[in-house]
Amino acid sequence: MKQNLLDLEPAAMTAWFAEHGEKPFRAKQVLRWIYKNGESDFDAMSDLAISLRDKLKQIACIQTPKVMREETATDGTRKWLLDVGTGNAVETVFIPEEGRGTLCVSTQAGCALDCAFCSTGKQGFNRNLSTAEIIGQVWWANHELGKNEDGNWPVTNVVMMGMGEPLLNFDSTVSALRLMLDDHCYGLSRRRVTVSTSGVVPAMDRLRDECPVALAISLHAPNDELRNVLVPINQKYPLQELMAACLRYLEKAPRDFVTFEYVMLAGVNDRPQDARELIELVRDVPCKFNLIPFNPFPQAPYRRSDMETVKNFRDILMQANIVTTIRKVRGDDIAAACGQLAGQVQDRSKRTLRIMEASR
Ligand code: SAH
Ligand code: SF4
Repeated sequence: MKQNLLDLEPAAMTAWFAEHGEKPFRAKQVLRWIYKNGESDFDAMSDLAISLRDKLKQIACIQTPKVMREETATDGTRKWLLDVGTGNAVETVFIPEEGRGTLCVSTQAGCALDCAFCSTGKQGFNRNLSTAEIIGQVWWANHELGKNEDGNWPVTNVVMMGMGEPLLNFDSTVSALRLMLDDHCYGLSRRRVTVSTSGVVPAMDRLRDECPVALAISLHAPNDELRNVLVPINQKYPLQELMAACLRYLEKAPRDFVTFEYVMLAGVNDRPQDARELIELVRDVPCKFNLIPFNPFPQAPYRRSDMETVKNFRDILMQANIVTTIRKVRGDDIAAACGQLAGQVQDRSKRTLRIMEASR
């Protein structure tokens, strides 16, 4: 089988070229073609000898996931549904803003963690994405959107907040991160790349040691009792352990705070006393809060808190000197908002299949 070069992080690319009798600088040249120029055709790599181009055509390929569908929201948010084989689909969302473009990438097809308010969780776990499938989302988005007038790629920030738990697909996630950061590839600063996790404590420590980037924690509850229900992995890594892991992470992080994401669920976690309990919980952790209005999906057992409640909650946190933002809902008319990603097309058919099998 041909080697998909998108699966190789910079060090692995160099090793692969060495295995094939090629000098390390060849690996760098090819990385630059793929990521800096967005090239996927070996014939166009004009500073490689023709014999090397021919050899690469024989043994390698540059293959991103296939796009099944593309949608654009009224606010300019774009969403691509990518086929990742064997009946699975994942989604990637591009959010344009003044002066930057953020790509929200997926790391798994489905998710095993089954948070109570998340549509990805509701479909269960299908499989981990490969490095090529993760970095391929960035490659694809840049390719589709085209370079800006200033010659730069439109994706300036990446958040791993699409489908799946990035830290439960650790190796591929880290390889993809290295491709985002490397100067021969996208060269993004560590502060512009964010991993979002529901709190897989041991993997947070590994990320800190192996590839520290900006960190967001899906907190969603001020105490273990509620978080055990909303974010079931809390039963394994409860809040005190999570807070300690945040502090350890900050020792090596590119930013001096973690971002706590907090989805606002009406009547569940949005009361003033919840905000006050949160303040106590995070007392020792340098942090910012990002309040996310709950994005409903079919069969969701929750409602979105009203704006007044959200603002009041923010004000309580702000009064305790915690910088708090309310996330703007983007792309909800194409179900591209946080927690709505479900890779619907394929999943529905698979689900139907499962139901059919179960009823036999
Ligand atoms: N698995 C990782 C990253 C993907 S989820 C994590 O949980 O952090 C990205 C963010 O969307 C998380 O903060 C998640 O809690 C939030 N989210 C999930 N479902 C949501 C919904 N229905 N409405 C709003 N935010 C949601
Ligand atoms: Fe998985 Fe994150 Fe959804 Fe929880 S919120 S089910 S960890 S994708």
